[in-house]
Amino acid sequence: MAIQLMSPSSRTSPAESAPALQQEIAQLAASPKVLSAMEWFREQEAQFTRWQLELARTPAPPFGEAARAAWVAAKFESLGLKQVHQDAIGNVLGLRSGAQASVVSISAHLDTVFPAGSPLKIRQQGPRLYGPGISDNAAGATALLAIAAACQEFKIAPELSLLFIGDVGEEGEGDLRGMRHIFLDSQWKDAIRASVVIDGAGTDTIVTEALGSRRFEIIIRGPGGHSWSDFGAPNPIVAIAHAIHLFSQTRVAASPKTTFNVGVIEGGTSVNSIPELARMRVDIRSASAMEIERLEMELRRSVEQAVEVEEAHSHRGNSTHPQAGLKAEINAIGNRPAGELTPNARILQVARAVDAHLGNTARVQRASTDANIPLSLGREAIAIGAGGMGGGAHTLQEWFDITGRELALKRILLIVLALAGMAPSGAEK
Ligand SMILES: [Zn+2]
Repeated sequence: MAIQLMSPSSRTSPAESAPALQQEIAQLAASPKVLSAMEWFREQEAQFTRWQLELARTPAPPFGEAARAAWVAAKFESLGLKQVHQDAIGNVLGLRSGAQASVVSISAHLDTVFPAGSPLKIRQQGPRLYGPGISDNAAGATALLAIAAACQEFKIAPELSLLFIGDVGEEGEGDLRGMRHIFLDSQWKDAIRASVVIDGAGTDTIVTEALGSRRFEIIIRGPGGHSWSDFGAPNPIVAIAHAIHLFSQTRVAASPKTTFNVGVIEGGTSVNSIPELARMRVDIRSASAMEIERLEMELRRSVEQAVEVEEAHSHRGNSTHPQAGLKAEINAIGNRPAGELTPNARILQVARAVDAHLGNTARVQRASTDANIPLSLGREAIAIGAGGMGGGAHTLQEWFDITGRELALKRILLIVLALAGMAPSGAEK
């Protein structure tokens, strides 16, 4: 995930009935089963560490999460979750049934950014675990299992059901396809009342705003030719350079923060050939969906105009080249919707009250996570960390320090149970 700190003024949303909610959290935390579960987390750390190491050793490259998904499905079964299955797109789901059919989802993405065949040298040194994907997001998936395990161990019966999801396709060109499927096409899409996304390490953030992005690959094709004998033929590299020049003059406001980047340019075969093709990849991001829309239009206009200009310049000077045009193709290669919680969303009030109860300090942040999908649909969702500390995300030097993991597990358990409600003790099964 990509995190961005928000300016301090950007959110003030005092809870409407903060004292009542605070008391509700205190009661929940003091109920015997929850209290036992919260103490148990610390004793179970060795088990959680083993799970995390095993998860990270099971490859989950982009579009290749099947092995890790199968591992998680087996764990879901052994932890007593019901209706454990993999959906059409590869997400793993399991249910802790409550008294009601509506659900609170708790999810962690299974995929990593590391391509198939990457060496997965996963190792432990004292409290530190090392290796690609160990924090992002083996830590998240471990937290998912830890919460399911606690519910099983202490026979915790929520009022709403808890839907555990190990989802695919969060990173890069996975483009949030796992979550997209859950919220647009799955049997659960209308039943989910609130979503807690677990991504990466730490306990010091609450992601409530979805950083939107759109990514494009632009390909300009032309007739090509010999640099001498075909001089004058329109040149795709010149056209793409002109398009970059035009697009890079697009003005963006400081707020809502909006950015663009030309990250890759390619094309051409040799110094004495007029290229047949030039290509670039462009990334557009904004907290505002409208700004993303506007920048996409600017990009399209820049490409169109650059092609026209280059075509008009062909028949340069001494050219005898027959008229042949350029063709531009603009392909969307990523689309992460922007969105944000409504100011008085219960899920944020609950997270705040749980943090106050645990003495934890957390900042509200904007980031690109699985929560983008529910947030863009106006649904209640947050993304939070799996505890401990982590660093080097998306590098082979990634690490995770297990110290203090239990704080995150307590935090996640309390948030999820406060959202789902606890069944009256007589109804616990
Ligand atoms: Zn992640």
